[in-house]
Amino acid sequence: MSDLQDQFNRPLRDLRISVTDRCNFRCRYCMPAEVFGPDYAFLPSNKILTFGEIERLVKIFVSLNVKKIRITGGEPLLRRDLPALIARIHRIEGVEDIALTTNGTLLKKYAQALAQAGLTRVSVSLDSLNDERFLEMNGHRGKVLTVLEGIERAAEAGLQVKINMVVQKGKNDQDIVTMAQYFKEKQHILRFIEYMDVGNSNGWNLQDVVSKQDIIERVHQFYPLQQVAPNYKGEVASRYQYQDAQGEIGVISSVTDSFCSDCSRARLSAEGTLYTCLFATEGTDLRELLRTGQDDAAIRECVSKVWETRDDRYSDERNEQTMTTRKNAKIEMSHIGG
Ligand code: SF4
Repeated sequence: MSDLQDQFNRPLRDLRISVTDRCNFRCRYCMPAEVFGPDYAFLPSNKILTFGEIERLVKIFVSLNVKKIRITGGEPLLRRDLPALIARIHRIEGVEDIALTTNGTLLKKYAQALAQAGLTRVSVSLDSLNDERFLEMNGHRGKVLTVLEGIERAAEAGLQVKINMVVQKGKNDQDIVTMAQYFKEKQHILRFIEYMDVGNSNGWNLQDVVSKQDIIERVHQFYPLQQVAPNYKGEVASRYQYQDAQGEIGVISSVTDSFCSDCSRARLSAEGTLYTCLFATEGTDLRELLRTGQDDAAIRECVSKVWETRDDRYSDERNEQTMTTRKNAKIEMSHIGG
């Protein structure tokens, strides 16, 4: 099997597939309510890739050596019959791992079916254990308890669970230690994520970022930590184990560090556009190819060309100039799932 390399010799290994642009939350850093209000025009269903189209594309990507699939949104569990899609992807030979990123509100309902369909891992976004702050951050759409119940149901169903907390200064950074303590006791891996300048609608400001160093120091004061090696090359989170050997945390430091040199991820939006970077300003329309009768070889050729010419390294280059050039031009996170 040929192994594609981009302009910086990075292989293509991971495909993140957004299955819907809709979400039942209105988190300020992703889909702020004043932008994504009642009149916001979400994609009509005929513009969204069908399960058959997604399955076909996954087969093509796997033929190019993709091993890992992550399902994202919007909120992916809003997509009807999602377990049926997971089952179709699970049957594709060569897919080694299927993960899901979710806000957790519907996880209690679907965890069992997702696990049975072949899902291996789930990342649940939860930014605070304090209901008032959580409601404030998610646009008054969902309670902490619902998400916690979803997390436990997912673990009971046999899924590997990680919790993702986006840390914003002055919004939820007072919850860093409480979150660490709670998930240490529950023996789930918590990952802190530096607040990033993804999309255009969240009014991101560098001053709102709490650095990895700061996060680690705050947790370390209460629960001493030691850094451990990554599980695999290209793992985005730096791992820290508790010194009492009970569990670990991760920090995704996409602002203060960068990990472009190992980035092997492609992203497919709900309407079938291929992006080669989270901070991309333009993509390649694969839906058009699917719906105009192109055969698999032609689509495979197109994806190969896109990857071979890829030279994205936004995090490496992030500075005043790139942030200004891409201002208002980046793809929204709700389209490509973060
Ligand atoms: S900035 Fe783009 S290329 Fe760099 S790690 Fe993030 S997604 Fe990959």
